[in-house]
Amino acid sequence: MQRGHMTAIQDVDTQVQGSAELDFDAIVIGAGMSGMYQLFLLREMGLRVRVLEAGTGVGGTWYWNRYPGARFDSESYSYGFSFSQELLDEWDWSEQFSGQPEIERYCNFVADKFDLRKDIEFSAQVTAAHFDEAGQCWVIQLTDGACYRARYMVTAIGLLSAPTMPRFEGVENFQGAWRHTGLWPKEGIDFSGKRVAVVGTGASGVQAIQEISKTAGHLTVYQRRPNWCTPLHNRPISKDEMAEIRAGYPELFQLCRETSACFIHNIDPRGTFEVSEAERIAFWEERYAGQGFGIWQGNFRDMLIDREANKLMSDFVADKIRGRVKDQKVAEMLIPKDHGFGTRRVPQETNYYEVYNQPNVTLVSMLDEPIERITQTGIRTSAQDYEFDVIVYATGFDAVTGSFDRIDIRGVDDHRLTDAWGGGPKTFVGVMVNGFPNMFMIMGPHAALGNNPRSIEYNVEWVRDLIGHMSERNLTVTEALSESVDEWNAFVHEKAEGLLANEIDSWMTGVNMNVEGKQTRTIVRYSGTAPEYRGRCDEVAAGGYKELSFF
Ligand code: NAP
Repeated sequence: MQRGHMTAIQDVDTQVQGSAELDFDAIVIGAGMSGMYQLFLLREMGLRVRVLEAGTGVGGTWYWNRYPGARFDSESYSYGFSFSQELLDEWDWSEQFSGQPEIERYCNFVADKFDLRKDIEFSAQVTAAHFDEAGQCWVIQLTDGACYRARYMVTAIGLLSAPTMPRFEGVENFQGAWRHTGLWPKEGIDFSGKRVAVVGTGASGVQAIQEISKTAGHLTVYQRRPNWCTPLHNRPISKDEMAEIRAGYPELFQLCRETSACFIHNIDPRGTFEVSEAERIAFWEERYAGQGFGIWQGNFRDMLIDREANKLMSDFVADKIRGRVKDQKVAEMLIPKDHGFGTRRVPQETNYYEVYNQPNVTLVSMLDEPIERITQTGIRTSAQDYEFDVIVYATGFDAVTGSFDRIDIRGVDDHRLTDAWGGGPKTFVGVMVNGFPNMFMIMGPHAALGNNPRSIEYNVEWVRDLIGHMSERNLTVTEALSESVDEWNAFVHEKAEGLLANEIDSWMTGVNMNVEGKQTRTIVRYSGTAPEYRGRCDEVAAGGYKELSFF
């Protein structure tokens, strides 16, 4: 296949007008878990597919986030692909929560097993994607000027894949090493004996801090708002245990289909106040001693909606923090005061709080001592200058819609997706957008989240079935009807009501102070359960896709 070269998207539009010739049936943007599986399925249908991947390898999130300490927060065996029995038979997980190197190896194993690389173009950064109405195809342009036309475009670009730097003055002038956790260098960074700063204490920061504190000469953590972190309780998986896990895969994936967010942990049907105080505490102690997200996703049913219940749970975790951190002044700095437990994504930790008992670690609260600028030699706060050899920015992502905003996506009448989503995203089941025909999103806004590979597999298969439906009927273009989008949007907003998390600023409510125009809360997430989500999507397919138009 020759790569077409254009100098500007205007040239592309002119050339494509009236041209029926397509380079591919489908272009998939991104070779993470979504893109790899979509490639596998569409190719199986006989489609000519090309995956465009900005990185030099597969894995998406697990390719880019190679910072020290990066690991699963979902049980490894619940996170891998479930679609291939051979894959399940051949891959052994070594830890309950595997680290990034193993996860990346897994993604490469999948790519090799299914010979995916031959249809993936690496170092291919998409800058623009315009729907050409005359050609009824997507025209997709890369940074190097290459340009492809395809009938279908599948965005598999992730919901936490557009890293954001803080808007501090002087970042570029720092003369030591500096990196964002989401853009970590393959060669790694040696922290031994060095003076290191970490800015940010979300899930990435917490994982990085635990690891960096082991070798850094001195680590200074800059925390703005603390998060509620709970123990991961990771441990190795023996060969025998792996054999048991393998034998139980059918039940395990069935369980993930039934739980609200596809984790192996499910909400406890009891209300916080329906049990005695002793029972409540015993239950929370058990959850705190248990592994992973059990304490967040497997808590009392009212914990994330009832203020009093949430307050009690928060007090319980606050006491745990007080018990683990020796200096009570530092403990109080680490206890969130502005949001309740679980209303932001709960970072999972291994001895995170104990890190602050180490003599080589200092916590600086940016609420008391804000960063004023980055200097050539370190960080200047309102109180003093600090000198560093390395600065790590664990400052998060322009989540959910950010990766879309970074591509110039235009649909019918040259309408920009960023404009269509001004004031908040509007989609049909998180997969389609009115005015953007033949564009399908995997993990798009308003699709079910949680233990993401489970939702990814569902969405990828749903897209495959829709394309199959079209092929069987010789239909070439589909679009979500605007009333279907309105209905889905109303449903998503209805599901968001009453959830304490939606009253808090976080990436889950579309807030990112580092991004222009993302300072106010928006409903960017579907907050209903995954089974309900899939039920709705299944109904659409079973009903012959009446919510879509075809031509
Ligand atoms: P994040 O949760 O958005 O955290 C970003 C951190 O940086 C916050 O502490 C934030 O403070 C701070 N920050 C941002 N801009 C700042 C500024 N200008 N000045 C000072 N502090 C600033 O991002 P993340 O930790 O990368 O995690 C994002 C999501 O990725 C997680 O919630 C999770 O869903 C996913 N993740 C998953 C895993 C896993 O599964 N293993 C691991 C890591 C991440 P404020 O809170 O005050 O804004």
